[in-house]
Amino acid sequence: MNSSLKILFVSSESIPFAKTGGLADVSGSLSKALSGMGHDVRVVMPYYERVKKGGFDLEKVSANVKHWFSGKLFGFDVLENRSGSLKTYFIRNDKYFSRKGLYGTSFREYPDNAVRFSFFSKAVLAAIEAIDFIPDIIHCNDWQTALIPLYLKNDLEGKMPYKDIKTLFTIHNLAYQGVFNRIFRQFIGLPARLFLSEGIEFYGQLNYMKAGIFFADAISTVSRKYAKEILIPEFGCGLEGLLKTRADEISGIPNGVDYSKWSPDTDGFIKKSFSPDDLSGKKECKIDLLDRVGLKFDVNRPVMGYVGRLAHQKGIELIAKIAEKVVGMETALIILGSGEEVYVDMLKKIQEKFSDNVRVVIGFNDELAHKIEAGCDLFMMPSRYEPCGLNQMYSIRYGTIPVVRATGGLDDVIIDVDENPAEGNGFKFTAPDETAFFEAVKRAIVMYNEGDTWKKLMRRAMLCDFSWDRSAKEYVKLYGKILSRCEGRGARDDS
Ligand code: ADP
Repeated sequence: MNSSLKILFVSSESIPFAKTGGLADVSGSLSKALSGMGHDVRVVMPYYERVKKGGFDLEKVSANVKHWFSGKLFGFDVLENRSGSLKTYFIRNDKYFSRKGLYGTSFREYPDNAVRFSFFSKAVLAAIEAIDFIPDIIHCNDWQTALIPLYLKNDLEGKMPYKDIKTLFTIHNLAYQGVFNRIFRQFIGLPARLFLSEGIEFYGQLNYMKAGIFFADAISTVSRKYAKEILIPEFGCGLEGLLKTRADEISGIPNGVDYSKWSPDTDGFIKKSFSPDDLSGKKECKIDLLDRVGLKFDVNRPVMGYVGRLAHQKGIELIAKIAEKVVGMETALIILGSGEEVYVDMLKKIQEKFSDNVRVVIGFNDELAHKIEAGCDLFMMPSRYEPCGLNQMYSIRYGTIPVVRATGGLDDVIIDVDENPAEGNGFKFTAPDETAFFEAVKRAIVMYNEGDTWKKLMRRAMLCDFSWDRSAKEYVKLYGKILSRCEGRGARDDS
């Protein structure tokens, strides 16, 4: 096998072009790391309105590429961005993608998401010829790209030239499966012979994630612990049975951090740089953060942060439940997030009640996210489940000690300092309730009050290395393993 691989990396979001969460960080950083290792990597994503408005340097490389979709010929353009050796392609079809949101508005998902991402998946395969790049492997990510393995392995129009290209399907979050009413089968032109429980059918509906898991040559997920967790009902979201049948082909490869973006010695968003050797700048970052969110608070007392989606997964109600006791320990809370109304209301009430100690900022704000990572002392991640999680890795880099629930990637990355004083980089709790969470927060605040022990903990945490290099090497090893296997996953035939 040639040591340099041709990798088509397909994702519905990627930094710096469009981001709603961790998937974009992973897509942008992993593709960059793979490209930096000398592999020929091409990223493909939709051309959203925010890409159009982002001022990126884009060149149209193909116009009106035709592909069969839902029994008709459709056209799309392909635009290209170059960043060093990495090329990112954008599939442009304004009817489906020129919208404000990626997947919906703050109130609801777009009702035609089944069609939009089925169109995208088919268009990616049609784009292979247009960009003149036949990959060794197509790396698909989450449900939005999960139909690619199905389309590859089941030659719907009888002229699929790429049947032998191998696929890796990465699950970034099993809870979001792309489940749609069966009526969409006709809209996406999926023949009845493929509407099978050995494939896309799931309790009478279409389940895109299920199709990806079924038809891909191999599956991966984003931490070692989550790779095991998804095999049991508590985390398997109904797909644990299918996943168990493929358990030998599931790998857990942890996400990494792009330290060119997330490091306190180079971060352009923060007030003053700092490092393990010179922590003095962190105090200025803390003062700047308090000022930015309008909190008049003693800079010598601990400030706890949260950045992320406001969703059930993230255990937001646990933060709300312990807020009073935390504030009672002369601690401030700064929360940045967007998401479900119920959590927005819950957090706003906490802010009203404890206005001297709590600030809640609703919205997506990259700059403030960096300021929170740099300016806080502690970072809260009481997630119910966390496939990998990035903020715990960002936090330790900034000496902002995480308090996390021991699940998925949080459990893999964080070592509890009370259990292992020599190697600890944070605080962990297990039971998904406020008593366990508060006990862990209390241990953290007690240690913060000890001064010198805290500084040692900060320095140790800051020196942990979760750069992409290690994970990218693991992906290359996995691609090699997939390619060296003689037989791929079989297609459904007409019989
Ligand atoms: P998930 O992918 O489940 O949302 P991760 O921890 O893997 O969670 O990644 C979330 C990423 O999105 C992080 O980079 C985080 O800083 C960022 N993020 C989430 N919400 C916001 C927000 N409201 N403003 C700025 N950045 C955010």
